[in-house]
Amino acid sequence: MAVKLGILGLGTVGTGTVQLLQDNVGRHPLLQDIEIYRVGVRSLTKPRAVELSPEVITTDLEAIVNDPAVDIVVELMGGLEPARTLILTAIKNGKHVVTANKAVISRFGGEIFTAANQAGVYVLLEAAVGGGIPVIQPLKQSLSVNRISAIMGIVNGTTNYILTRMQTEGSEFDHVLADAQKLGYAEADPTADVDGLDAGDKIAILASLGFDGRINREDVHCEGIRQVTKTDIAYAAKLGFVIKLLGIAQHLDEDNSQLSVRVHPTLVPHSHPLASINGVYNAILIEGEPIGQVMLFGPGAGAGATASAVSSDILNLVATLKTNTAKPNPLLACRHQNYSEITPISELVTRFYARFLSKDQAGVIGRLGTCFGNYGVSLESVVQTGFQGELAEIVVVTHNVREGDFRQALAEIQAMESIDSIPSVLRVL
Ligand code: NAP
Repeated sequence: MAVKLGILGLGTVGTGTVQLLQDNVGRHPLLQDIEIYRVGVRSLTKPRAVELSPEVITTDLEAIVNDPAVDIVVELMGGLEPARTLILTAIKNGKHVVTANKAVISRFGGEIFTAANQAGVYVLLEAAVGGGIPVIQPLKQSLSVNRISAIMGIVNGTTNYILTRMQTEGSEFDHVLADAQKLGYAEADPTADVDGLDAGDKIAILASLGFDGRINREDVHCEGIRQVTKTDIAYAAKLGFVIKLLGIAQHLDEDNSQLSVRVHPTLVPHSHPLASINGVYNAILIEGEPIGQVMLFGPGAGAGATASAVSSDILNLVATLKTNTAKPNPLLACRHQNYSEITPISELVTRFYARFLSKDQAGVIGRLGTCFGNYGVSLESVVQTGFQGELAEIVVVTHNVREGDFRQALAEIQAMESIDSIPSVLRVL
């Protein structure tokens, strides 16, 4: 008997998924055992790019998740509600779930996975991070015997597109954002992307898988790219760096007691594997023992790529249903129940890049150095770069320093008579 899917949403990803499942010849033979039984949408009159018989399409999404004939619910509608409630209802009704919804999983994953474990069903989410890039199952299966020490990635295509164009064209953020919106690479409301919130959802999910504990989404420090200027991109390039928005989850100490999970624009050395990931592409670098470094690279969004990830989850569940085993598969289930403690950003030890505008030149670099020295900040490089009108521009890169100490030094420097402003402060990988 065919496995019956109830798909919630027929937008970009829903349409791509239906197309892939309908055009199944030459793909995995198990795809032929699937029936697209119901598809839930908001509007019945909207033109659709796929052909589905009228009894398949409905606006009654609750009926889909409550229908005893549906085996797998595929949530591709996005947003928090009603997606969360529909997923929970599907689970309660004993249905496996596939979702591409990072927002709902990063905020309500605890509730959803607890319910799924109790109901003995799986919730799979390959498409929620990295679009078409397989990263969730690799972390759950292929890399699961490794002790993971760091996961870092470019997990938001919109911001990577904007930063790449700022870099290659020497343009400012506002100009590139407006153009990206016109071209469809950025949403009309770009907040979730440019303020780092989408990347925050994704790194929270990756951290929970790599570091074996649930992550409270509110503990993830998120900074976006609005404050990145073409001036900083140019200085970074001169110093041997490119600026990327990174999601980073890493142990900060040898005994793995401190876990940092954060998103921020970062100066990445030109020689680093993530430095050359440009445009809308995503990449995730995973470091573990004994494997060393693994980088997964590919299309982070788009109908076909994301459908590939969604369909791989569907396939996993079809295989599970077909083998008909009553025992849960620990490589598909979510295995952790406790929340990880996240180290506050003030405890992070990292290098910094900072740009200062000073009113007078004489002695100011010395005074900066003295103040930094008082807080244990040592400077790796100092560049007196020129003038902006009457003001002298000074760029520094520090050695590793505790963020809290660095911020205290900056507050003192900001109050100096000779300092006009500190236009940018960025972390360095
Ligand atoms: P989308 O194009 O906006 O499509 C959303 C679909 O859900 C539409 O078909 C819409 O119905 C339906 N829908 C939304 N709210 C509904 C409601 N309250 N009741 C009934 N139907 C509702 O979204 P998308 O880009 O495909 O994204 C879907 C999910 O995939 C999101 O969680 C997103 O984060 C994730 N994702 C997307 C991509 C990508 O490249 N787009 C990549 C990775 C992950 P109508 O068609 O009738 O309006």
